[in-house]
Amino acid sequence: MALYENNELRKQAEEFLSAFPGGQQTINVDNMKTLLHELSVYQIELEMQNQSLKETYQQLVVAKNSFSQLFELAPVGYLKLDQNGWIHKANQTIQKMLNLSSRQLEGHYFANFIHPDDLNIFNSRFRAFFRKPENKRIELRLLKYNGPQLQIEMSGRLITESPLPEGKNSDFLLVTIHEIGDRKRLEDELILAAKVFENSDEGIMITDEKNRILNINKSFTSITGFEPGEVIGKTPRIFRSGHHAANFYKEMWAQLMTNGRWQGEIWNLKRNGETYIAWLSITSVTDMYGKVKNFIAIFADITQRKQQEKQIKLLAHYDLLTKLPNRVLFSDRLNQAIMNASRLKEHLAILFLDLDRFKLLNDTYGHLAGDILLQDVANRLTACVRETDTVCRFGGDEFIILLTHFKDQTTAIETSQQIAEKLSNELARPYSVANTQFITSASIGISLFPSHGTSAAELIKNADSAMYYAKDAGRNNFQHYTEEMRKNALIRSSIEHDLINALPQQQFDLVYQPFIELSNDGLFGFEALIRWQHPNKGLLLPEAFLRIAEETGLIDKMGLWVLERACQQLSIWHQQGNRQLKMSVNLSSRQFLNASLFDDIEQILLDTHIPGSALILEITESMMMQNMGEAIRVMHRLKSLGVMLSLDDFGTGYSSLAYLKKFPLDILKIDQSFIQDLANDPEDKMLIKSIIDIAQNMDLLIIAEGIENQGQLEFLNKHGCQLGQGFLFSTPLSSAKLELRYKQLSAH
Ligand code: C2E
Ligand code: CA
Ligand code: CA
Repeated sequence: MALYENNELRKQAEEFLSAFPGGQQTINVDNMKTLLHELSVYQIELEMQNQSLKETYQQLVVAKNSFSQLFELAPVGYLKLDQNGWIHKANQTIQKMLNLSSRQLEGHYFANFIHPDDLNIFNSRFRAFFRKPENKRIELRLLKYNGPQLQIEMSGRLITESPLPEGKNSDFLLVTIHEIGDRKRLEDELILAAKVFENSDEGIMITDEKNRILNINKSFTSITGFEPGEVIGKTPRIFRSGHHAANFYKEMWAQLMTNGRWQGEIWNLKRNGETYIAWLSITSVTDMYGKVKNFIAIFADITQRKQQEKQIKLLAHYDLLTKLPNRVLFSDRLNQAIMNASRLKEHLAILFLDLDRFKLLNDTYGHLAGDILLQDVANRLTACVRETDTVCRFGGDEFIILLTHFKDQTTAIETSQQIAEKLSNELARPYSVANTQFITSASIGISLFPSHGTSAAELIKNADSAMYYAKDAGRNNFQHYTEEMRKNALIRSSIEHDLINALPQQQFDLVYQPFIELSNDGLFGFEALIRWQHPNKGLLLPEAFLRIAEETGLIDKMGLWVLERACQQLSIWHQQGNRQLKMSVNLSSRQFLNASLFDDIEQILLDTHIPGSALILEITESMMMQNMGEAIRVMHRLKSLGVMLSLDDFGTGYSSLAYLKKFPLDILKIDQSFIQDLANDPEDKMLIKSIIDIAQNMDLLIIAEGIENQGQLEFLNKHGCQLGQGFLFSTPLSSAKLELRYKQLSAH
């Protein structure tokens, strides 16, 4: 009210009214006053309103800015779409996502920016989406300008704007666009991981930080038999097989905690109580602070592989037939034993064992029988020695036994001798093979460490040569390696060396020993025998070099030379008018089986012009028995040349008259050992009588060799032996000496 009392104001009003002529008559002052007052009130109100409008406007501007910022810079893309999918507004985020400006987006169809392969999805679902977008999501790929495609998920919200002019639809869709590439990749990785987990051939087990089982995969179940329900929540202790000591697990954990990883072989239990061997690798999984959260164990069942490995090792180191160590493993063990023995100053013994007449059994009863016998032998040998000793099958019918830990040489000799005797006795017991009782024996050679050698090779070699001495000494016995054997071995190697030059340097010669017709003293023919005129050793007999020549193969050329030379000599004597004379030549077993023998002889006969029937070839029983079928074939072929075949040293080999029938033989030579014992041994007399009988029945000529005295001659003559050979008639002589002795041999 103070305002109305304002004199200043009244004054102004009066001045104002006075400006209107006659105003004072129509509008009285009071009215004016009221009017003025109202005007001023109104003015004040207007000003106030203006002020608040201004403020509201300010606030609106601020609000608009912040909302637009929110809209533009939101971490998701916003698109305002109309019903037709037309973009009305695109925020900066989506612009950035697609690398396009608002102008390039707004006013265009959203579909323009969708990957062509996803357009169908979009088109088919957009309408429904528009009508009711709540809780709906569409996953799409968008095309980014100059960039890789974007994996997005769109969700939306209907917004209605105040009605647009001309009844235009005021509904819009505010689309929110999330980039889900990373999430997608993660999802894909998870799916992949899950697939790997489920489909891996390896068993997988995941445990928590306290090593309680969280999950196992299918392979885990198929390998171990445990179902998830039976193991989840438990610790892997339930798989312990008891195979490993506590230390094993301790070390495993120590490594796992320090390196985050453990890998190795482990024996675990299956559900059915069986043990299996796993190749296991455990990895610890830590969180971002380095704290262990999980353990992942991945394993494969390698039991079978281990078995195969074992099998392969077995094959490489053991003999399949007898299950004994083979020579590879034996060498290993021997080397090891030598090392130990030299360290401990101990002695070792090696027994080299060869079965006697094994070949005959094999040939007669077949390989299967041979195999059974070998297995039996292996068992008997193993039973005779201590567990620490090694019995090995060295090959064929050869075995080696290694005896260890002897404190001195005497003990080594005595014990090895005792064991050799025990072995001989054991092996001499009959074997039942192929429903027959079979008897064999063994020849054993023994060498000692360090007395007879310090290397494995040397010890084996020396035991082997001792074994040969045992064999030569009549089988079924044993021999220790001796100084004499060592010397012989040295001689042997020097002979071996010299033998190479003997033929080219014409150091060989032939001597001839006559065959005499016992009834009339007539000259039937000669046996050619080789001699070696050694440059420093003088004249050497065949026994000094023949075996070496055979073993080294030098016999091939040597034998051919003998054949040529003997036939040439016979040819000369034939030309002197002695066409009835025969020449007998010894064949070595190697020569006998040599494929070129037939051609060689054929050629020699042609070259020397002697008839095949004038040549006698001497072979031994062992040569025929080695491979009977082949021997018979070779013999028939040789016979087709007209040559005669003679069985040398009869009585020393298998001496089975029954076998003789199978071979195309012409002559039987009774071994000189029978002739020599004739005077003292009535059994030999009987034997010779029956040999002569049978030979005559088989139409074989008989030659008795080694006749040294009249008594022998008379006995043989009396019992119908046709031919004889021996010092009584003549020692082997050179052709020249023979020509002096038998005048008919030289020119008349
Ligand atoms: P063998 O075939 O049994 O030859 C007979 C051996 O007995 C000869 O020994 C001969 O000198 C010897 N001898 C002959 N009559 C008597 C006798 O009345 N008393 C005694 N104690 N011995 C007698 P040699 O020449 O030392 O031959 C030994 C062996 O060497 C031969 O035995 C034969 O198997 C082999 N041999 C000799 N020359 C050759 C050859 O050219 N080639 C082949 N492959 N072997 C040969
Ligand atoms: Ca002979
Ligand atoms: Ca003989």
